Amino acid sequence: MTPYKELSREQLQAMKADLEKQFEEVKAKGLNLDMSRGKPSKKQLELAMDMLEELKSTDKLKCETGIDCRNYGLLDGIPEARRLLGAMTEVSADQIVIFGNSSLNVMFDTVSRSMTHGVCGSTPWCKLDKVKFLCPSPGYDRHFKITEYFGIEMITVPMTPAGPDMDMIEELVSSDPAVKGVWCVPKYSNPQGITYSEETVKRFARLKPAAEDFRIFWDNAYCIHHLYEEQDFLLEILEECEKAGNPDLAYKFISTSKVSFPGSGIAAVASSPRNLADFRKHMAIQTIGHDKINQLRHVRFFKDIEGMHEHMRKHAEILRPKFEAVENTLEKEIGGAGIGTWTTPKGGYFISFDSMEGCAKDIVAKAAEAGVKMTEAGATFPYGIDPHDSNIRIAPSFPTPEELQLATEIFVLSVKLVSIDKLLAE
Ligand code: PMP
Repeated sequence: MTPYKELSREQLQAMKADLEKQFEEVKAKGLNLDMSRGKPSKKQLELAMDMLEELKSTDKLKCETGIDCRNYGLLDGIPEARRLLGAMTEVSADQIVIFGNSSLNVMFDTVSRSMTHGVCGSTPWCKLDKVKFLCPSPGYDRHFKITEYFGIEMITVPMTPAGPDMDMIEELVSSDPAVKGVWCVPKYSNPQGITYSEETVKRFARLKPAAEDFRIFWDNAYCIHHLYEEQDFLLEILEECEKAGNPDLAYKFISTSKVSFPGSGIAAVASSPRNLADFRKHMAIQTIGHDKINQLRHVRFFKDIEGMHEHMRKHAEILRPKFEAVENTLEKEIGGAGIGTWTTPKGGYFISFDSMEGCAKDIVAKAAEAGVKMTEAGATFPYGIDPHDSNIRIAPSFPTPEELQLATEIFVLSVKLVSIDKLLAE
């Protein structure tokens, strides 16, 4: 394909007239599709419906310690759930504590607790003049919303294909005691689908923070969410931290939101004994216990980590063709046109698209005109400001294959039209 930049004004204008006609035609189809969040489709949710058939008789309601899961008890979670979620994130049962239905909620609470009570006995962050967080970007918008909510200053760190720019992270973490944390989605990252390299993980584990209460917020949300048999490999961070003499450096968050039911799954935190004790101190005031019936239901349904992997293969069979449909359409329609690049992840929930500079907001607005709601442009950066106005998160999971095809056509038409306008205005 000839790059658009090499086309004459007349050629661009002729293309524009034709594309506008096509756009009006698809717009007339009256699509009303929300692709703004990475939600599993109805077909994926059906996969775990048998979970609701578990626990139908009272003799099934005891966990392996003999405790009746209908009652209070076991603040850390039932042992079999700790084993299962431990296996999911490659730690042993005693390195993990089970929480409620949302890992984001636990991350929010962790920042909140650090603000009011400090980290493992250090000065509460609210008493400090300045607290800063490093935000590898593009990243997960809801992480950035948490730190923004608490008035924490966010510093954008560029992403590379191997993970965040580690030179910048090392420099900032070791020189500035106001830097208290870093947001990471280390596997099949949201939104690029990048998995941090071994070197990146080792450099994280070997950080020498200026602040004793600096922590890595390692959100391993997509740890088992592979799309292909050939999988990305992520080095286990807690063991690396231990080896580097930094046992308390990282909090590892996970949940079964996109394994079983988003909003009705189980969340957990894995970390060092000292950090977990800090979590428990707060948790023991906050609750008498989380939902053990749900924990039991999950364990009975998945049985073990093999059962979970088997289940995730079923998700992949539904998701993979959707990712490939988007990637193929992008390649066919704008491959080589020089008006956009995109990632082709081996797992996770998103494809990250980068338009020409200064076009993302207009593309998202154009797609919305034809009934396709995408994640707001800019959302993948701190404060919702993408310095290049180019990144757009594509979430292919929720629509049916037919809806997705139409939505991708609308997206591509929007990219072409906005890019041509930009080139004509230059
Ligand atoms: N972390 C990341 C990176 C996510 O993409 C999501 C969900 N989209 C979450 C956390 C939220 O997980 P939970 O449902 O456990 O709060």
